[in-house]
Amino acid sequence: MSGIPGVTLRGMEALPVEVEVEITGGLFAISIVGMPDVAIRESRERVKAALRSLGLNLKGKIAVNLAPADVPKEGALLDLPIALGMIKATGALKECPKALYMGELALDGRLRRVRGAVPAAFLARKMGIPLYIPSANAEEVALVQGVEAYCADNLAELVMMLRGEEPSRPLPPAYVPDLPASAETDFADIKGQIQAKRAAEIAAAGHHNLLLVGSPGSGKTMIAKAMAGILPPLTDDELVETMMIRSTLGMETKAGRERPFRTVHFTASTVSICGGGNDLRPGEVSLAHRGVLFLDEYTEFRRDLTESLRAPIEDGEIHVSRATGSVTYPSRVLLVLAANPCACGYLGDPVTPCKCSATEIERYKRKLSGPIMDRIDLQIAVPRLTPQELLRIDENGKPPETSAVIRERVVRARKIQLERWQEYGLTCNAEIPEKLVKKCLTLDDDTRSYLATMASKINLSGRGLSRVLKVARTIADLLGEESIQKKHVAEALMYRQINER
Ligand SMILES: [Zn+2]
Repeated sequence: MSGIPGVTLRGMEALPVEVEVEITGGLFAISIVGMPDVAIRESRERVKAALRSLGLNLKGKIAVNLAPADVPKEGALLDLPIALGMIKATGALKECPKALYMGELALDGRLRRVRGAVPAAFLARKMGIPLYIPSANAEEVALVQGVEAYCADNLAELVMMLRGEEPSRPLPPAYVPDLPASAETDFADIKGQIQAKRAAEIAAAGHHNLLLVGSPGSGKTMIAKAMAGILPPLTDDELVETMMIRSTLGMETKAGRERPFRTVHFTASTVSICGGGNDLRPGEVSLAHRGVLFLDEYTEFRRDLTESLRAPIEDGEIHVSRATGSVTYPSRVLLVLAANPCACGYLGDPVTPCKCSATEIERYKRKLSGPIMDRIDLQIAVPRLTPQELLRIDENGKPPETSAVIRERVVRARKIQLERWQEYGLTCNAEIPEKLVKKCLTLDDDTRSYLATMASKINLSGRGLSRVLKVARTIADLLGEESIQKKHVAEALMYRQINER
């Protein structure tokens, strides 16, 4: 009796499992021990039927042991090693090459797509052994560098490969196109709002958190959504990070470098946003990792929810725990918030008067300055345009820039940041830790005294000051300029107008 290596998942991590099968005489029965979950216990039926499809009828008392015994095993990904263990125990397969095997079996022996194939590929690479997976997982695993992996459509094909009757089928080569995401809206379709569009461009370039405040119909939601089309492409490392998370959830992973863009509604649960549940799944804040997490109607979100986002936004990772254990997921998101300026929505509107009382406005302001507001780098008002203004833009202005043109600038600016921060393992200006802000974001005397004056004028906190410096750095990068100048700082200060006043 010797084991077949399989895999179980704990969060984003794949753990090795050894599947041992013993067949003894007696009445037919299959028992599985070693902390299997419900899906694995059901695997008895799937495996039995799949083996019958190979013409293999099981007889006798079959004991399946999953080792190590103290690790909870979950999911149907152990179907394949269990089936192989049984085939080997019957003598129909003499040798089973030392490799990791994962796959769910259909009753007819087909291999079904499983979640966790990307983490499993990393485990196989670490263990220095090949990985056998369902063909449906081939595309995502092919993106992992340096892993020896093979795929099969069904159990019969795989058994023939293992017997050496057929060559092992390598994965198709990975191809990752570098295309922008298709956004619902192009920036060229948004009239006016030059300042807000500029803020969105800076946010995309430096991965800075952004707050858009405007009346209903001002276009703030459109601007937020259009950001999907100007984000820079994922780097190789970032691509793998985002794939790990998607693979953990079993989500279809298309090979693309477009950044995630996740919109969250205020009715969403804490678990769906932050992660958790019985199987410790990642939440939206992790699915948006390296991309945008968009909270529309921010002031409608429950305070405990925004409170729970505070740490993951600041730390770039989130700890999800339950009685069964705890896991850590990455959560380096670009947070975009959109909100009305007041409860009725029309404070400061050029046409519709605001109906709120002074107390109501005060109360609303407190909501707006909630727990994550000091994590916001750019705040911008998105005023609703009057019909006259809309017309004027059509008559006089240059045609508005398309998302494609804006994205080119963003990509260039991000490339500068990647090169600058590479030695520190960082990718963009928003990630710079405090000690590097002091060391690397230096100003000339004139600019420094200007910033000091302005900071005390608008009552900027130490944290706020760092944020201004990081945004100023991104503004300089968008212009391809080496040093942070007064004009960059002045523009960065403009984007702190809402809460500091
Ligand atoms: Zn109002």
